[in-house]
Amino acid sequence: AKRCGRNTIRFFDPTTHAAMEVRIGLEADLRTALLNNEFSLYYQIQTLDSGYITGAEALLRWHHPEQGLIAPVKFIPLTEEIGLITEIGYWTLETACIQLKAWADNPATAHLQLSVNVSPRQFHQDQFVEKVSAIITNTGIDASKLKLELTESLVLDDMNDTIKKMNRLKKMGVQFSLDDFGTGYSSLSYLTQLPLDQLKIDKSFVHNLTLKNADNVIVQTIIGMAITLGLDVIAEGVETAEQAAFLKANYCYHYQGYLFGKPVPLAEFEAALADMPPI
Ligand code: C2E
Ligand code: CA
Ligand code: CA
Ligand code: CA
Repeated sequence: AKRCGRNTIRFFDPTTHAAMEVRIGLEADLRTALLNNEFSLYYQIQTLDSGYITGAEALLRWHHPEQGLIAPVKFIPLTEEIGLITEIGYWTLETACIQLKAWADNPATAHLQLSVNVSPRQFHQDQFVEKVSAIITNTGIDASKLKLELTESLVLDDMNDTIKKMNRLKKMGVQFSLDDFGTGYSSLSYLTQLPLDQLKIDKSFVHNLTLKNADNVIVQTIIGMAITLGLDVIAEGVETAEQAAFLKANYCYHYQGYLFGKPVPLAEFEAALADMPPI
């Protein structure tokens, strides 16, 4: 038992201890996961209101040898904390670019764009621009097909660094989407300072969209802002036809969500592509 303050004695908490052991186990497994080829990318369709598939978001999956598929929320924060996200992030980016190159070589898929999530720790690293540039060159992709998804907190973490890096990558043709938009800091003045291409409406707002709901105003405001700033706007987490109809009626024509398709392995994504209606 541990003495905390005057009359309190705090005993060792077994639930915390169990959680700690799980964490330490996962951490050790994560350190070898890359070497053991345990990561893969899933692809989630991004579609226009016509059903035309413009591209996908690449989402990381970990196939743990004993525990099976582990969702990113369960391991990405840990990789951020221990710094492993940088290495995993470059693996993700390179894998995504190799896939983009394969699509570019086939006329039926040459139009596809691929969105890749970038973690704050990786982005703010010294060599980020050089490394992304090397991956673009080595894979031979058209950089304008690559869309990097940045979050508001990443951007606001160090605005000067962010603007400099975005501008350098922008010169190569790289596209930028602001992910989870609306969940972070409400200051909008920073938006005009960033060379963005797209705002991505967070799924928490899309989730509550009904014909009469306060969140509607938020979504309408975000769409309006995107239009004013000349940016593309995409809604994530679209699950129902009603949500899609609301978005469309409010001038948002680009969607991602279970209504159109869940994140799936490459083969399933390519099967969905084969069923794509003409533009
Ligand atoms: P995110 O970037 O906001 O990705 C969207 C998440 O929403 C994905 O979860 C996706 O599966 C989920 N989603 C898509 N459509 C729907 C829908 O209609 N309804 C609902 N309820 N959910 C939907 P996922 O794949 O579990 O990823 C969770 C988070 O993990 C991502 O959120 C992102 O922050 C992070 N993440 C995933 N892959 C990577 C990666 O390669 N690098 C980094 N740095 N982070 C990643
Ligand atoms: Ca994302
Ligand atoms: Ca998101
Ligand atoms: Ca999110």
